Parts: sequence; structure tokens; C-alpha cells
Amino acid sequence: MTKKFGYSILRDESIDFDRNDKRISAYLHAHEPSINLCIGCGSCTATCSTGHFVDFNIRRLHTLIRRGETREIKKEIRKCMFCGKCQLVCPRGVNLRNVILTLNRAIEQLG
Ligand code: SF4
Ligand code: SF4
Repeated sequence: MTKKFGYSILRDESIDFDRNDKRISAYLHAHEPSINLCIGCGSCTATCSTGHFVDFNIRRLHTLIRRGETREIKKEIRKCMFCGKCQLVCPRGVNLRNVILTLNRAIEQLG
């Protein structure tokens, strides 16, 4: 019998930062500069409506953006319900709803 420990091992992954496409990150920083104020406190993630139901972490999404992991960004962004709770609790005033909107626009325009 397999014992369940409540977690699973993540698959191996290597990231070639220099080769990744950072256009989405550049677009976001140009169009919604409040993202620069983020201190990674995690309040947005803790309060996220979607995160209560599915595997979604907006702070992780931010990491993916900085790394230029476009394929993962596209997959994750679809999960957001656009409720705005994350923005209400952000201690740094990051305009998170506009971050999501801007990301969607960037994906549309940059492909
Ligand atoms: S709540 Fe604001 S400062 Fe904290 S991780 Fe989220 S965006 Fe960054
Ligand atoms: S707007 Fe999206 S990321 Fe923010 S709390 Fe709602 S579902 Fe989560």
C-alpha cells in the first residue's frame, strides 16, 4: 500500500533564463509599473479566490513573468476569476487587477 504524505515531488526542471522570452515582463513593467512595488509578501496568494479551488498562485505567476516562462504564464493566467480580492489586501498598492488585464493584453499582442 502506498502511503500518502499530502504532497508530491515536483518534476525536474531547468530554466535557461538568458534564452527565455522576457517581452511579456517588459510589456507589463511598461504598462503597469506598480508591479515593481511588490515585496513578495504573499498576501495576494493567501486571499486569492481561485487558489481556494484550484492550484493557482499569483505570486508564482509573478515569478514566471520575471523568468520569462511564457507557456506557463499563458496556462496560469486563465485561472484568475478577476475578483480583485488580491488587490484589496496588497500592502504595497500593486494594481493587481490591471496586472492581470495587462498580461492578457500582452499575450494577445505578443503571441
Ligand atoms: S500582496 Fe502585493 S506586495 Fe504582497 S506579494 Fe502580492 S503583489 Fe506583492
Ligand atoms: S483577481 Fe484573480 S488573482 Fe486576484 S484574488 Fe481574484 S482570482 Fe485571485
